[in-house]
Amino acid sequence: NAKFNGRGTAAFYSADMDADLRQRRLVESELRHAALRDQLSLVFQPLFDASNGTCTGYEALMRWHHPDLGQVSPATFIPVAEETGIIVTLGEWALREACRTAASWDDGLAVAVNVSAVQFRFPDLVDTVSSALTDSGLEPHRLELEITETSLIENRETVLAMLQKLRALGVMIVIDDFGTGYSSLGNLQAFPFDKIKIDRSFIWQMEEDESARAIVKAIIGLGKSLDLPVVAEGIETFGQHRMVIEEGIEQLQGFLLGKPKSAGEVEVLSGIRRVPTFRKRG
Ligand code: C2E
Ligand code: MG
Ligand code: MG
Ligand code: MG
Repeated sequence: NAKFNGRGTAAFYSADMDADLRQRRLVESELRHAALRDQLSLVFQPLFDASNGTCTGYEALMRWHHPDLGQVSPATFIPVAEETGIIVTLGEWALREACRTAASWDDGLAVAVNVSAVQFRFPDLVDTVSSALTDSGLEPHRLELEITETSLIENRETVLAMLQKLRALGVMIVIDDFGTGYSSLGNLQAFPFDKIKIDRSFIWQMEEDESARAIVKAIIGLGKSLDLPVVAEGIETFGQHRMVIEEGIEQLQGFLLGKPKSAGEVEVLSGIRRVPTFRKRG
């Protein structure tokens, strides 16, 4: 291993690169079958109303358990899925599974599903969302789609039209990881968002870094001016919690308040009852 050899030769590094590439190919080929082989699952992380501490809904997050690779982190497999286009299949699976689960819960709360920029390259995303709602029987206002600004870079007109159609279905559009990457304030004006989610990197720096706190404050102020609720993700400490509340945040999410849990755990902990689910005929 090049790391332990310190000043490794080019040969060491190239052997490492081969190993990385082989690992990546393995992840890629195994990921193609993950859905059919029943290796995917969703976990649900709660979101809270900052004014009264009640749970307002859950974000559905994908998990992949492979028999040999074990639990593979989304940080590893989501980028591979995006680069290969596999995310289109995985994303549809997540959407349908999240709608089905939320529809089976009698709490009436919202479920947020992450939608990749790659999924916006296919106009039938709108039909997929529409049929996920119809097939599950979930009321559209209970579905939130979390998108990042990466989705807004290419084909802005097409993406805008898709977002308008999605909103016409009655679903909520959330801008995720706001403040990072390709952020532009103009996006908030040009696209029909219902909520802003501040990227967790700012929340994590808030206590030590005045400028991070200033950015959080500015995003919350922007939300107020534009009449968009703002949610802070990644809250881990009491200090971060106090600061975002002081700045006037509307919603909260983070390990301090609740970690992602399986559907079964959520049901037990929240006393949710299963309602008879709508079944597709035919
Ligand atoms: P994201 O959409 O920004 O989701 C939030 C991530 O932050 C989740 O990581 C969540 O577990 C983590 N998180 C929330 N609060 C805390 C906290 O207090 N501390 C720490 N350390 N982490 C916290 P996860 O589940 O590993 O997902 C990472 C990313 O992978 C997501 O970021 C999202 O971009 C992507 N992802 C996950 N599931 C899906 C999916 O179904 N579809 C798509 N397209 N992307 C997904
Ligand atoms: Mg998200
Ligand atoms: Mg996020
Ligand atoms: Mg993200």
